[in-house]
Amino acid sequence: MADRYTPREMLEKLVSFDTTCTRSNLALIDFVRDYLEGHGVACWVTPNAAGDKASLFANVGPMVEGGVVLSGHTDVVPVEGQDWTRDPWTLVEENGRLYGRGACDMKGFDALALAIVPEALEAGLKRPIQIALSYDEEDGMYGAPPMIERMQAELPMASAVIVGEPSRLAVVGAHKGILELIVRTKGFETHSSIRHKGVSAVHLAARFVTWLDDRQDENLGRPLPGAELFDPPCTSVHVGEFQGGEAHNITAGRAWFSVDVRACPPETSAEWLERIQAKAAELEAAAQKIRPEARVEVEVKADVPPCAPEKNGAAEALLRRLTGDNASNAVSYATEAGLFQRVGYSTAVCGPGDIAQAHQPDEYIEVEQLEKGEAFMKRLVAHLSA
Ligand SMILES: [Zn+2]
Repeated sequence: MADRYTPREMLEKLVSFDTTCTRSNLALIDFVRDYLEGHGVACWVTPNAAGDKASLFANVGPMVEGGVVLSGHTDVVPVEGQDWTRDPWTLVEENGRLYGRGACDMKGFDALALAIVPEALEAGLKRPIQIALSYDEEDGMYGAPPMIERMQAELPMASAVIVGEPSRLAVVGAHKGILELIVRTKGFETHSSIRHKGVSAVHLAARFVTWLDDRQDENLGRPLPGAELFDPPCTSVHVGEFQGGEAHNITAGRAWFSVDVRACPPETSAEWLERIQAKAAELEAAAQKIRPEARVEVEVKADVPPCAPEKNGAAEALLRRLTGDNASNAVSYATEAGLFQRVGYSTAVCGPGDIAQAHQPDEYIEVEQLEKGEAFMKRLVAHLSA
C-alpha cells in the first residue's frame, strides 16, 4: 500500500533533508518521486548540468487542460552563521509553532501539496493538480526556467499557477523583479600627476554609480501609475558593493561594483538591463577616446522577472474563491511567479506562514497556518472535482 502522510508528517520528512541551496537536493527529490509514483502519479525529474540537483513536476489526475499548478521550491537558505537554538533539520513543535529550516519558506506549502495527493486522487479530479518543485530558488532561481519549459512541453496547459511562498494565505497578485548585475571597469594606469593621460577605472565606475543614483532619485520623484500597492511605487536602483584601485597615486586599472534593480511593474527587468547596458556603452566609448584599452562590462548574475498584476486574472480569481481574501496585495520580495507568468500562465502568490520568519534562525511555521493551508488544499480539491 502506498504511503500516506498528514501535512505535519510530510513537513517533518521534508525538513529532515538538508537541501541548503549550496548542496544537493537529490535525496529529497528521490523521496518525493517514490512517494508520488507509489500513488500512480506520473513524475518528470529534470537534473541540472552538474547532476547534483533536480526539479520535479507531476500531474495528479487527468491529463487535461484547465488544471492548477502548485509551485514550490525545495531548497532552503543556509543555517551557517545563524544563531540556531535547535537542530534545523528536525521538526519540533513548541507553543503552537513548528520549528525547522524551511518550515515556513517553503516546505510547509510543499508538504501540503504532497500530502493532499491521495485524497485528490480519491476525489476523482476532473482537472489536474500539477505539482512543480524547483531548486536554486534562493540562489538565482536557476532551477525553475528549465522545469517550466519542460512542463509546457509535457503537460496540458494549466489555467492557474499558485506559488506558495509565505503570505499568511493572503492573495498576492504582484511583486517586483530582481536584476542583479556586476559591472567591471578597466582603466589605464598612469601616475596620478599625469592623470589626464590615463583612465581611472575607479572614476569611471564612480561616474556610473552616480548615474544609477540619479535614476533612483528620478524614479522616486515619478511614481508609476498603477503601482500604488508597492513601497516604493517605482523601480529601485541600488549599488551594494564597490571595489577598485591599487594606490592613491595611480589611476586605477580595475574596479567593480554590484547593482541591484527591483523592477516595479509595469516596468520590466529587461528594459532596465537595456538602459544600463546603453549607459555602459556610452561611458566606455568616452573613456576609449583617451585610452582604447578602457572597458565597461556588465554581467548579469540573476534576472528574476516581476509578477505584474493581471486584469481579471484566473489565478487571483481562483484564490479569492478559495481563501475569501478580496484585498489586492503586492509584495516587494521576488518569487518564481514572474517566471511562470512570463510564459503565459495566469499566476499569483499564496501560501501559509509569514515571510517575517523566512530565512531566520529558529525558523518556524505556526500550526494554525499549516491547518489553514490544509483546509485550503481540501477546497482546491473540491473545486477541481466539481
Ligand atoms: Zn521561498
